[in-house]
Amino acid sequence: MRRISIFGATGSIGASTIDLIRRDPEAYRLVALTGGQNIAGLAALAREFRPEIAVTADPARLPELRAALAGTGLACAAGPQALIEAADRPADWIMSAIVGAAGLPPGLRALRHGTTLALANKESLVCAGPLLMETARRHGATILPVDSEHSAVFQALAGEDMASVERVIITASGGAFRDWPLDRLRDATPAEASSHPNWDMGQRITIDSASMFNKALELIETREFFGIDPRRIEAVVHPESIIHAMVAHNDGGILAHLGAPDMRHAIGFALNWPARRALPVERLDFVRLGSLSFRPACETRYPALRLAREVMAAGGLHGAAFNGAKERALDHFIAGRLRFTEMAELVERVLERLQAAAALAGAVTLEEVRRVDQIARDSADDALRLDQA
Ligand code: NDP
Ligand code: MG
Repeated sequence: MRRISIFGATGSIGASTIDLIRRDPEAYRLVALTGGQNIAGLAALAREFRPEIAVTADPARLPELRAALAGTGLACAAGPQALIEAADRPADWIMSAIVGAAGLPPGLRALRHGTTLALANKESLVCAGPLLMETARRHGATILPVDSEHSAVFQALAGEDMASVERVIITASGGAFRDWPLDRLRDATPAEASSHPNWDMGQRITIDSASMFNKALELIETREFFGIDPRRIEAVVHPESIIHAMVAHNDGGILAHLGAPDMRHAIGFALNWPARRALPVERLDFVRLGSLSFRPACETRYPALRLAREVMAAGGLHGAAFNGAKERALDHFIAGRLRFTEMAELVERVLERLQAAAALAGAVTLEEVRRVDQIARDSADDALRLDQA
């Protein structure tokens, strides 16, 4: 039986992971299941899978979790430190599917135990790519990408020589507003940004898809995970979301990874790796699809992509600043305090400010990443207050 932990079990990636585990209950033993505000969902999963421990990220919700698990004999805990301790529990495979920079500390801790980390939490790589990759290397741990584009690149690169790779192209669906005229974007609402044409995902990544901040994070993720020169990494809009990524070699050949837009493919690939096993995902019918189309990922329409280029060129702690500012901009957009197109403007201002203050010059350690993440969030709040004063 493989010992498995799922961080972010109550989320969208968590649910898809649980779906695969549930189909083969004899094969897995659950070690830790974690959630945030969805206590009822976490308790239901704990009752079903009887993990060693169930953890909520929010200490204020511990009494509720305790009450929901009363009489079951199951252990529970709460708070960021409890999440890190849950990552200390021996496991053979760990899903990192917390949303945001909060996913970094437990993921990093898990790597120190030499485990296999299935990484959906792209923010970890954006904030602390060099630290994460070096920690994995030093402790003999394995990181398997779960983001669909990166799983696709990983699969397309199998057995290939990195020296012959000319370009890596990741695709973007274009999100909720891909067919909207540019001048309407300013007034787009959180509700409008929260529906994705192809993928069923958590609210935050869905809005990030509409603004292309998700693709911006993924460009940086590609750079950090595969160690590819940023000038060789491209994004292209592909509205059908059938091709997830392509790897172009110096002999003109291009390997593309295709599949139905269903995260259970990338999750299942990571779960079964290095083997391939049958997965409950739709099989593509090319005649029915008819055609696949592509459009440029325009940096005027999507300034987040231009910012990602700047972050990749600067490296170091710029990723942590970019992500922290982006997370706060998204909070403010969801709360109705910021317009859709103002998110990128705010992130750009924060990056400029922190650069001017020489706040991003340090090494990529966990302490420095946390410091920069916090000042980026504070700086975003300050900039917004000044605007509204
Ligand atoms: P969801 O919002 O659906 O789920 C997020 C999970 O994290 C939930 O379990 C949530 O708990 C928990 N959580 C929220 N805040 C915190 C916190 N501060 N500390 C600890 N746990 C917290 O997100 P998704 O499943 O969509 O995404 C998860 C990650 O995977 C993200 O990094 C995303 O970018 C990435 N990803 C997602 C894809 C998708 O298809 N959904 C595709 C590719 C990557 P609760 O709900 O109980 O509050
Ligand atoms: Mg993706």
